[in-house]
Amino acid sequence: MTAAAATQVDIAIVGGGMVGASLALALAATRQRVLLVEAVVPDSSQQPSFDDRTTALGNGSRRVFETLGVWPHLAAHAAAVREIRVSDAGHAGAARLSAAEQGVEALGYVVPNRAIGQALWRQLAAQPALAIRNPAQVSELQLDADAARLVIGAASERVEARVVVAADGAQSLVRAAAGIGAELEDYEQVAVVVHVLTDRPAAGIAFERFTATGPLAVLPLADGRYTVVWTLAPARARAVCALDDSSFAAALQADFGWRIGRIAQVGTRAAYPLRLSRAERMVGTRAVLVGNAAQALHPVAGQGFNLGLRDAALLAEILAPAPDPGSPAVLEDYERRRASDRRGMIGFTDGLVRLFASGRPGVAAARNLGLALFDLAPAAKQALSRVSWGFGAEAPRLLRGLPVCP
Ligand SMILES: Cc1cc2nc3c(=O)[nH]c(=O)nc-3n(C[C@H](O)[C@H](O)[C@H](O)COP(=O)(O)OP(=O)(O)OC[C@H]3O[C@@H](n4cnc5c(N)ncnc54)[C@H](O)[C@@H]3O)c2cc1C
Repeated sequence: MTAAAATQVDIAIVGGGMVGASLALALAATRQRVLLVEAVVPDSSQQPSFDDRTTALGNGSRRVFETLGVWPHLAAHAAAVREIRVSDAGHAGAARLSAAEQGVEALGYVVPNRAIGQALWRQLAAQPALAIRNPAQVSELQLDADAARLVIGAASERVEARVVVAADGAQSLVRAAAGIGAELEDYEQVAVVVHVLTDRPAAGIAFERFTATGPLAVLPLADGRYTVVWTLAPARARAVCALDDSSFAAALQADFGWRIGRIAQVGTRAAYPLRLSRAERMVGTRAVLVGNAAQALHPVAGQGFNLGLRDAALLAEILAPAPDPGSPAVLEDYERRRASDRRGMIGFTDGLVRLFASGRPGVAAARNLGLALFDLAPAAKQALSRVSWGFGAEAPRLLRGLPVCP
């Protein structure tokens, strides 16, 4: 018996999490034959991308989702952030950033990851030209000069693609198969994520408090609760996760204060060890990296997905018209055009973590002066409120409200 012929596609996307699903949607109606492979079904409790976290979407990401037709399914779940209050625990420095001052409707939107997953996969299911394997895992990958050769799922389906996209997260199998190393930097911090209900419903104000152990973000949710991203040293994170609900609420309240009122209820806690992972290159032979496979950031500024979505938006625009989407010239074009945004956002996020992690008196004083000056400087506020549009000189078409293909 002869082996079944390999399935032929132009673009194979490995990973249908937040970034891979967005990319598949962006490419679905183009001339390229696209296959999306995702290991876990989107509404499963095991789905690592669409879990209990929330994502702060910048205005640029909202525009991308509007252009892709996803935003109408997200709007009801999105809490508009109209003000951000930044403070430094134990110091006087504080700053406020307001949407009204910046002349925008919102500084960003806080959306549950599960709602993003549902909206993206609902749209994907409506794309007749898109091939999807789910649940199915890519188990083998060989990258040759003419094609990427994949083995997928329990039935060991063979696929040949002109290019394979690594959208398979920080521990990317595709990145490893492409021989691309990743620089890792352990922040020795763990983010404890939990939703809380207080006696004062959330109303569009987000809080970012820098504490001795790391940043503590308290973000409004559309249902009036808050989502908390509490960064702690690993041992303390383990200890607070083991507390009963009322002791946990008391510990959180002691670190954060009473700005959101009294915490009346706490939800399930989940812990995420934090490290910066940065791939040495974004492209290899017949392979290209997006999202966490390319760079996984500290969540301090809520920029990881926003950056990954811009990877996907530009990659779609570059691959869509290409006669050979895996040719070195096409892939190098992508790497070159993403370089400044990527470098800028990694530097901005990492710099923020280091600046606020330092307990040295000189640094703490300069930081407080910085926050106080920032609070008085409209130009600095405007620059910060534009960070979520990216550091790149070039905004991808989807970010400008234009379809992927002219
Ligand atoms: C606590 C926390 C808070 C955050 N908050 C924000 C925020 O507010 N704003 C923001 O912009 N970013 C935020 N981020 C970052 C954001 O979550 C990530 O940037 C985003 O999840 C990256 O998505 P991804 O699709 O690249 O990777 P992932 O989310 O890791 O998804 C990878 C997908 O690939 C699949 N997969 C893996 N291997 C295979 C395989 N071999 N075959 C098939 N499928 C495979 C997985 O099942 C998964 O679905 C936060 C991160 C953390 C940890």
